[in-house]
Amino acid sequence: MRSVIAAAMVLAMAGTAQAETVFVRAGHLVDPERGTVEGARVLRVEDGRVAAIMPDGALPAGAKVIDWSRYTVLPGLIDMHVHLADTGETNNPAEPLLHSAMEVAYMGAANARTTLFAGFTSVHDVGCYRAFGDVELRNAINRGDVIGPRMAAVGAYITAPGGGGEVTGLAADVHVPDDMRAGVVNSPDEVTQKVNYLFQHGADSIKLIATGAVFAIGTVAGQQELTEDEMRAAVAVAQARGSWVTAHAHGAAGIKAAIRAGVRGIEHASLIDDEGIALAKARGVFLDMDVYNGDWTDEVGRRDHYPEDYMRKNTETTLAQRQAFQKAVRAGVKLSFGTDAGVYPHGLNARQFKYMVQWGMTPMQAIQAATTTSAAMLGWSRDVGALSPGHYADMIAVDGDPTQDVTVLEHVVHVIKGGELVK
Ligand SMILES: [Zn+2]
Repeated sequence: MRSVIAAAMVLAMAGTAQAETVFVRAGHLVDPERGTVEGARVLRVEDGRVAAIMPDGALPAGAKVIDWSRYTVLPGLIDMHVHLADTGETNNPAEPLLHSAMEVAYMGAANARTTLFAGFTSVHDVGCYRAFGDVELRNAINRGDVIGPRMAAVGAYITAPGGGGEVTGLAADVHVPDDMRAGVVNSPDEVTQKVNYLFQHGADSIKLIATGAVFAIGTVAGQQELTEDEMRAAVAVAQARGSWVTAHAHGAAGIKAAIRAGVRGIEHASLIDDEGIALAKARGVFLDMDVYNGDWTDEVGRRDHYPEDYMRKNTETTLAQRQAFQKAVRAGVKLSFGTDAGVYPHGLNARQFKYMVQWGMTPMQAIQAATTTSAAMLGWSRDVGALSPGHYADMIAVDGDPTQDVTVLEHVVHVIKGGELVK
């Protein structure tokens, strides 16, 4: 009985918070839509969304105020490539088999909180080994049971048998649990069937594993694994359902096949060639390039004795990817902000900003990648990625000016999600 009353009170309080008007005082306000940093502003938040932005001044008596006047305020950041509902990389290719689905669910809850507190109020979760762990985590966050960012989830990897989306490196007679193979496909027909299955069970979007992967023993990063017809089948189902597809692809051929098949985004794009960059530009395809984590893997992988196969592929893709990123910046390709968090510990997502600036972006361009551009890739531009009226009141406070020193984003002081102060 007591728990029923407590639950009712929580609901009532949540209802009150929703209907509340809150004023947020910002010392400076970064506007990624205009590419400017404004002076002192007040944001009026109603029902969890920004209602108005005004010059700082007198506020109504008794108004609820969150005073961030000593901070620079930005829209909540977006990471387009995370794996919240998974164990993370270790030196053991069989790591996913060492943890129950229940344990991984609790890990996911912790990862979600860590990510939100790092200033990332929206994420695209691009897959987990246990099918639908990401979908369940998203649902738990949306119910208010778990503290975390807004999530778009893919349900499972669509991958070739033994491909980059499988748990590999095991003995040939080891049986991998069925829920780790929900997206394994052998033909375009199977793609159609499995992509429909993922959507029926709550996927927001689809993740294809178009080529081999760094962290999948025996797969070749540069080698195409799904056929163009298979990828086309996935895009057809997604489009029919008003959704979209992104493709993990390191190798140039796999990248171009995925773009021709109609995907919205390419994850990694490490070995993309000039033709691929031109194709991405011409088709308006987003490149989501995780230019930070190669350094993490190089350092920690040596220390922790990662398999030679991982380390070699990490070396083959890290510098090449950064050089390709620089070319893509110069070519004016749409570049989102995706880090592959999970390969390194969640919460360090903002370390990538420095690398994006080192490899050709201005700090404002890197901020735009993690706000307006990533929101556009998600199809959520009206809701997140900016703070102009109508958007969710998702915002962060940092010390200093991130357009002068982008690394201040590594130390987010406060976070508001949907008008509620969560950190
Ligand atoms: Zn990934």
